[in-house]
Amino acid sequence: MSEVKCIGILTSGGDAPGMNAAIRAVTRSAIYHGLQVKGIYRGYKGLVTGEIKEFKSQNVSNIIQQGGTILKTARCKEFRTPEGRKLAYENMKKEGIDALIVIGGDGSLTGALQFAKEFDVPCIGLPGTIDNDLYGTDSTIGYDTALNTILDCVDKIRDTATSHERLFFVEVMGRDAGFLALNSAIAGGCEAAIIPEFATEVDQLEEFIKNGFRKSKNSSIVIVAESELTGGAMHYAERVKNEYPQYDVRVTILGHLQRGGSPTAHDRILASRLGAAAIDALLEGQRNVMVGIKNDQVVYVPFSRAIKYEKNIDRQLVDVLRNLSI
Ligand code: ADP
Repeated sequence: MSEVKCIGILTSGGDAPGMNAAIRAVTRSAIYHGLQVKGIYRGYKGLVTGEIKEFKSQNVSNIIQQGGTILKTARCKEFRTPEGRKLAYENMKKEGIDALIVIGGDGSLTGALQFAKEFDVPCIGLPGTIDNDLYGTDSTIGYDTALNTILDCVDKIRDTATSHERLFFVEVMGRDAGFLALNSAIAGGCEAAIIPEFATEVDQLEEFIKNGFRKSKNSSIVIVAESELTGGAMHYAERVKNEYPQYDVRVTILGHLQRGGSPTAHDRILASRLGAAAIDALLEGQRNVMVGIKNDQVVYVPFSRAIKYEKNIDRQLVDVLRNLSI
């Protein structure tokens, strides 16, 4: 196994608050350990086109508090092809990069695994997604910030919902995972969450109505996870209009504002710990793993596991939400 002297770092897929804190941590930690760092722009696209620049400590100054990613992010079709990945490898070699740090979601880690298999390039992944849908880590970079952003909006919607005695469906992101929806519903004191994990099990709208909608309340907020499986907030609003026309129903789709903003303390600390752990992993000779945190301990999860397994929703949380919304 050859020694790693120069690392390349990129952010890929959907952006998430805290990615900058992760870029900073990886860069500074690598420099601290005597490694050279190169920033790769626009995810795998920059690797394919050679959009790469040397990073010194100053390049990551004053970014820990910024949302988004200074390296930009993109989705790259070419990297899905063997020819594209060959170009990426050639650019890596040209730049003298001998290991890759990839910050992104499920798709980005799948790409890293494919690349590492074909070219024997050491890759380390950091879980960066607001959806929290990566197996092997309790939390992903960006999730806590998005959750708090949603909460802020829900609190505001509650004011108008209560004043007008309305039923609100609030649609949140999650990409086929209900973590944001379920936990924002608990934290926002909402009446229910409609999540993809249960979409085929029960009629979640029926459950909500059956469990005493408006028995003792003058407003209700139901969080709906955006997903083909749930059908989204509009679908439920339509259903209520048709099936329960006595209710005054409104929809709010939070959309991209959930991705932005300054990362919370939790996400900055998580990103800093994971960034440092990624360099430790490389120096220890770890290859093709995602660094995560489980029970407050750093863990290394092979890409194959992180990608293959689904992170399950804790069913106790569903009970907590239901029991507290009486
Ligand atoms: P996320 O990382 O947020 O899940 P995507 O699923 O869009 O985002 O993946 C980001 C990028 O990772 C894709 O645009 C592509 O370049 C790369 N990628 C994803 N899946 C693969 C794959 N099977 N093979 C090669 N590259 C992939």
